[in-house]
Amino acid sequence: MAYDPNNIFARILRGEIPAKLVHETAHSIAFNDIRPQAPVHILVIPRGAYVSWDDFSQQASDAEIADFVRAVGDVARAAGVDAGGYRLFANHGAHSHQEVPHLHVHITGGRPLGPLLM
Ligand code: C5P
Repeated sequence: MAYDPNNIFARILRGEIPAKLVHETAHSIAFNDIRPQAPVHILVIPRGAYVSWDDFSQQASDAEIADFVRAVGDVARAAGVDAGGYRLFANHGAHSHQEVPHLHVHITGGRPLGPLLM
């Protein structure tokens, strides 16, 4: 899938749409999900133009990948969910119901989440 430069997260990255940023690094930003599914629900996204894990894992530089992976852990720790536990997920494509075509990892936590429902 070609990257749509006008997707909503691209617009957040350009500052055209507000978001509650909780973390920023050279290659990533994190913000609160506007429809939280748990007491903590944060999205971490790369600054680069990647649709999903598929193109990110193939095309991103080692520096971008390292930054992104570290940002996810740092955001979870800063949100205080590392002790109780949290869930990470990233949707890719139609079967996963990916809504926004810019890679994002969801961090959810802050309460017992129950078993993963497929
Ligand atoms: O993984 P998926 O693409 O389905 O999830 C998109 C997520 O982006 C949703 O949880 C939605 O609430 C969130 N969102 C947001 N801010 C927007 C638009 C969507 O946090 N402006």
